[in-house]
Amino acid sequence: MNINNSAPNHYKIICLGCRADVSAAGYVLRCDCDNALFRTVYQDDRLVNTAEESMWRFSAWLPTVDKLPTRGRSVTYKSETFARELGLKDLFISFNGYWPEKNAFLETCSFKELESPPTVQRAVENKVKTLVVSSVGNTARAFAHTVSTTSTDLKLVLVGLESAMGKLWLPEPPSENITLVVLQRGNDYSDAIALGNRLTALPGLTTEGGAMNVARRDGMGTVMLEAAVTIGRAPDHYFQAVGSGTGGIAAWEAALRLKHDGRFLEGQLPKLHLSQNLPFAPMFSAWNSNRRTIDPSTDMRDAKKSIKKLYADVLSNRNPAYSVKGGVFDALKNTRGQMYAVSNTEARRAACLFEDFEGIDIVPAAAVAAASLMQAVANEGIDDSDVVLLNVTGGGLQKLKEDKPCYEIKPDIRIASPDVDLTELRDVVS
Ligand SMILES: *Cc1c(COP(=O)(O)O)cnc(C)c1O
Repeated sequence: MNINNSAPNHYKIICLGCRADVSAAGYVLRCDCDNALFRTVYQDDRLVNTAEESMWRFSAWLPTVDKLPTRGRSVTYKSETFARELGLKDLFISFNGYWPEKNAFLETCSFKELESPPTVQRAVENKVKTLVVSSVGNTARAFAHTVSTTSTDLKLVLVGLESAMGKLWLPEPPSENITLVVLQRGNDYSDAIALGNRLTALPGLTTEGGAMNVARRDGMGTVMLEAAVTIGRAPDHYFQAVGSGTGGIAAWEAALRLKHDGRFLEGQLPKLHLSQNLPFAPMFSAWNSNRRTIDPSTDMRDAKKSIKKLYADVLSNRNPAYSVKGGVFDALKNTRGQMYAVSNTEARRAACLFEDFEGIDIVPAAAVAAASLMQAVANEGIDDSDVVLLNVTGGGLQKLKEDKPCYEIKPDIRIASPDVDLTELRDVVS
């Protein structure tokens, strides 16, 4: 491993496999020892909330030294009408999107924008020149927004899909530091990931790392921190729709830190209720068979066909952080958690109800989570006095479109397959 110049001092990074301290290793995602995630250990084990108007209010528990300017943060509020409809007394909504009346300013309208500022900042601090992000939508938009609204020198290579170009737009002109590589029709998200990984063979290019990246997870962990601070305690239940599983792991890790602090959480960790969209629900299938590994032939049968049918296509990850040590399986076990599978019809119905009662549009993945909460209530899985947190992972798109202009990110090159000869791409991406 490369030892970088200066190790940070308000946190350490530990490998959960061999317990090695990898803090000084730079922008590295895993060590050779094991199939394990890294985890940040912060010097301050009491939660500090500076009341700054951005996610950086929790910078003592974010793995960067400096703070990239952003207005974005997670917003928690108490639901009245949707809660009454469900018969819950203490339902809190974590709203992650655009809703100015609630002080919610994630302008790409999803919680991926809680991951991009700390990740970009951490990449810069570790002397990364070009960050590679494979995404069919929200992740690409979040990273592009962060790079386009700050004066960072970091270059960004986005690997996207021709079939998803309609989603690649920003509320501001895209930065010249962004290069968009597009895979032509017939390719899917896994092909974009495969090409993204191959690109890192080129000098100066580094893959952002997804769930393996502590900056992404701790950025998303601010959802739980914000909720604890607003409610005055950690919730008993946490509901979220999962694709890669990053957000679920992050909620668990944030809860572990809160437990260590002791002021917001004394008893049991918040129970994770994680949901997927049928007919593609690999983690639901593996978990319900009590398996630590996803078996493609049973848990992802007809993957390509199933993915095409999804209402919430952002949940179509075929390689989630499920079995890895410190991943979703461990998070569910440790929190006595549960997986849900939600049909398109249930999700659409939940979206209508939520929008009617709460007065804001939500994205399909958030509707999947809302539908899972309705399932849990129907199955009497929740006491009506329990404190429940529903993570609305994206919303306010309609509102944003009324308020802001829309700039497309234009492809710099189109590629037929991820097996392309890299020399064809070298000049475009460097
Ligand atoms: C990515 C995403 C999810 C799933 O989150 P993971 O961390 O990948 O499991 C849920 N909702 C929205 C809106 C997303 O963009």
